[in-house]
Amino acid sequence: MFFTDLGLVPELSRAVAEQGYETPTPIQMQAIPAVIAGRDVLAGAQTGTGKTAAFVLPVLQALAQGPAGRAPRALVLTPTRELAAQVAESARQYGRHMRARICVVFGGVSINPQIDALRGGCDLLVATPGRLLDLAGQKALDLREVRHFVLDEADRMLDMGFIHAIRQVLKLLPARRQNLMFSATYSDDIRDLATRLLHDPVTVEVAPRNATADRVEQRVYRVPKEHKRHLLAHLIREGGWHQVLVFTRTKHGANRLAEQLAGAGIATAAIHGNKSQNARVRALAEFKSGKITALVATEVAARGLDIKELPFVVNYELPNVPEDYVHRIGRTARAGGAGYAISLVAPDEGDLVRDIERLLRRSLPIAATPEFALAVEHEQRPTPRPAAPSAHAAQTRHQAGRRKIAGSDLGRREAPRASNGRGPGAAEHSRPSGRSFGSHSGRRFGFSRG
Ligand code: AMP
Repeated sequence: MFFTDLGLVPELSRAVAEQGYETPTPIQMQAIPAVIAGRDVLAGAQTGTGKTAAFVLPVLQALAQGPAGRAPRALVLTPTRELAAQVAESARQYGRHMRARICVVFGGVSINPQIDALRGGCDLLVATPGRLLDLAGQKALDLREVRHFVLDEADRMLDMGFIHAIRQVLKLLPARRQNLMFSATYSDDIRDLATRLLHDPVTVEVAPRNATADRVEQRVYRVPKEHKRHLLAHLIREGGWHQVLVFTRTKHGANRLAEQLAGAGIATAAIHGNKSQNARVRALAEFKSGKITALVATEVAARGLDIKELPFVVNYELPNVPEDYVHRIGRTARAGGAGYAISLVAPDEGDLVRDIERLLRRSLPIAATPEFALAVEHEQRPTPRPAAPSAHAAQTRHQAGRRKIAGSDLGRREAPRASNGRGPGAAEHSRPSGRSFGSHSGRRFGFSRG
């Protein structure tokens, strides 16, 4: 099956070939012909399935066939800025042999350049809801010409409380239009929204509902909360991981862990809602280019990140909402690649594991926790740095910290007692720090499967 078999014009199939795509993914095979036929579509597809091309390609094709004015004729609504930027970037790549004008608007950056861009004319607009409504409120944007409306990651939109904003946006759109709705999971609210939004939709589902990608190897390590960062540093270093996305529950937790990993010599940046848009873009670029090894992210910030063939995703803390687990591990094994989803689970997270297992209808495999050192860090936190620490800078700091530990602190301190969650005395053994453990000084504790 080739892209041209789906009814795409040569300009688009050439562009996807230049992206290195050889065959359409299942969601593309099912959705593209339906969109070309003008149907509304409800697609159950998690991120990584190629869903962006599934709506962008046929919409670009439709746009090329109609007369262009100044106001957008297609609108894609996304929950996050990152996803908006990525969808727009994909659309630019796919539309490179066409004349489609693609604009993207989101909050957190100055509104004026966006107003100017829209004034210059726009065919396909990608937007987050808040900024879109701002622009419309300022009369800088006319949505009455929209003929194709895409609600991307609709489930996340609702989770983020955008239902009211979506309703406001819908009021600004003309009644006659094509509607495409993409969602990784289906709740009753999503079904409600679909019923209101879509007319006689073609339903497309590429993976069993709420199932995790088959190719993601999931693994749970049971580890006390206070030891998680040591185990994570160990896994990254000893496993030679070069690119790992780590999820924390809070922004503060993301910052703290990023500092701790940097302090352990692992080039790390944090990405969350309190970071400026520029800081987020820079962190993501450095992560993609391999300049930093670990990107610590909160759920919302990580949503929509498209990092090709991301090999490792770590749940540093399990999400409270089991569906978020599916989203998170959807970051790996994208479009056919293999990947690992590792969860570090503290004894008090047992209920969360059970919720996830109930949703997946399968148990999460518990792996034997490897031996790892509990590095005793110096109390002083690394000074917050405006940019992500470079590998070299982090390494230098780490060396300094370790020297201090080895020289004095370790002797004075009571070595931490390790427990693997099986109760008192569960730590199998501890060894004197004399035995080597990679480049690490500190004490070594044995953990076995808990
Ligand atoms: P998405 O699910 O839209 O976030 O896409 C996930 C990743 O798959 C992106 O990096 C796309 O560039 C890539 N991709 C999309 N369609 C294809 C395809 N037909 N063949 C190979 N890779 C694809």
